Amino acid sequence: MIQESQHPFQYLDFLDILFSLVLSIQIFSYQKALYCSFSYQLILPEPSKNARAIKTLYWLCLRNLLQFLKFGIDRMKLFGYVELKGEKMELTKQDLELIEQAKVTADRLHVDDIHEVAAALRTKDGKIFTGIHFDANVGFADVCGEVATICHAVAHGYREYDSIVAIWGDGKGNYSLLSPCGRCREVISDFGLDIWVIVGNLEKPYKLKISELLPLKNK
Ligand SMILES: [Zn+2]
Repeated sequence: MIQESQHPFQYLDFLDILFSLVLSIQIFSYQKALYCSFSYQLILPEPSKNARAIKTLYWLCLRNLLQFLKFGIDRMKLFGYVELKGEKMELTKQDLELIEQAKVTADRLHVDDIHEVAAALRTKDGKIFTGIHFDANVGFADVCGEVATICHAVAHGYREYDSIVAIWGDGKGNYSLLSPCGRCREVISDFGLDIWVIVGNLEKPYKLKISELLPLKNK
């Protein structure tokens, strides 16, 4: 499970900054080289040619600047500094109800360090199933809340799902909304690429299709 709010400074951040720096130096050198070559042309006694050269230089500088800005925004999106736009969907009443059901299950089945993450899913025909994660004594045998919930639904003969959400609870009324881990993203998408996953945080939840959370599914 990855909490949406967690964003520690990591090794990749360092590489990212280094890469941006190298790119900036490259762009700067490139523009300087261009400027020198155009300066050479500017001394030619042909006013029309000079005007064209200046115009081209401006366009190239502008294009480079835009490319650099786009690069920066892409990097920030990648590391979660800028939120994705366009694909987010507002929650419906039923989605909010799903969050409440996950909270109820998290409270009902809570055991410290063993059962702390509950999930709730709604089938295409509106039936709700919940489940609880468990931390096994042997780590690799742990089961996430989403998987436990899907197993619950499958055991009752339901394989067509509309939405799913996972909630961490401490058993004392404190909750967090969790994004599915990579393994859960794979499992959820095995049941359909159009399943909605509720993410964000409890103050500002929104939903995305699982295909957006796992664009390059393992097939
Ligand atoms: Zn998981």
